[in-house]
Amino acid sequence: VGIDDDIFYLDRLKHIYHTPDERSAIRVMCRRVLTSLNLSDPPISLRPICKRFNLKVVYNNKAKKEDSQLKLVSNGFEIEISRLKNWRRNRFTIAHELAHLIILRSVGTPEGKLSKEQYQRVETLCDIGASELLISEDVLKAQLLIHGLGSEGIKQLYDKFMVSYDALLLKLSEILNCNIMVWRKYARHENEQKEFRVFKHFPKYRYAEKLTWLPNGCTAKHIVPTPFELYSSKNNVLVMRDFKILINDKMVSCGAISFPLPSSRTLNNNLPIFDDLEVMDEAIYDDSHILLVFSDISKLEQVTHDYLKIQ
Ligand SMILES: [Zn+2]
Repeated sequence: VGIDDDIFYLDRLKHIYHTPDERSAIRVMCRRVLTSLNLSDPPISLRPICKRFNLKVVYNNKAKKEDSQLKLVSNGFEIEISRLKNWRRNRFTIAHELAHLIILRSVGTPEGKLSKEQYQRVETLCDIGASELLISEDVLKAQLLIHGLGSEGIKQLYDKFMVSYDALLLKLSEILNCNIMVWRKYARHENEQKEFRVFKHFPKYRYAEKLTWLPNGCTAKHIVPTPFELYSSKNNVLVMRDFKILINDKMVSCGAISFPLPSSRTLNNNLPIFDDLEVMDEAIYDDSHILLVFSDISKLEQVTHDYLKIQ
């Protein structure tokens, strides 16, 4: 048995694309696809990429929760997407499946059944690929310079790239070097009080700064100060240079920026149009607040200087 036989098929990616790891490799691969199709200005239409990789998107009206599976059909691939799901989120799903096909074309499929960890590795890689297809880092930075961070700025980015908040916030956490939490007033079960809690977190725990990580459901008891009612009428972005996170009897000093997310727009209310569709907002993010946490205070100063010029 040669050593090569032990190499997982994804390990070949970094050798083929001369990158330090598979994460950078998938980024290179996706950028090449975009370049070859002359796709550079967001929002990126996925139609030409689907065409290139023979992926047919079939829409249904099923309300089922689980995500669709890539199917092999006679002249390529097919994926079923529910019309009832938010289109921005569907776009990410399609981009994710495209990343599977981009990997497939490059290194084929794995031999044998994947372990749970290997499966997770492929899935994470396809999420990175999807994000790369939809959001160009350079364009995102340029757009941030124009619109700035904050409620208005994030809405501009949301429409510029036509992505879900999940996709946008993940990318922002990467380029701004911070953990991003979404806070919302909710209760996890009926015996629990409805109050501000961590609703989502970007990036995933595995890639996040662990010291400033708060799991979903954590209340505002774990942070000082609580910014969600402190915005002034003049400015709804709060920069906190003396921010503290308390968890497991430990207190971590860090910096943070907070702002509310704008409420979702309703039909006939200036909804953006893309690919012949009136694109809906994600209502699950209504009354949410964004909290960017910087364990390195110099990164906070940098972001404040670059993207929050009024501070
Ligand atoms: Zn997948």
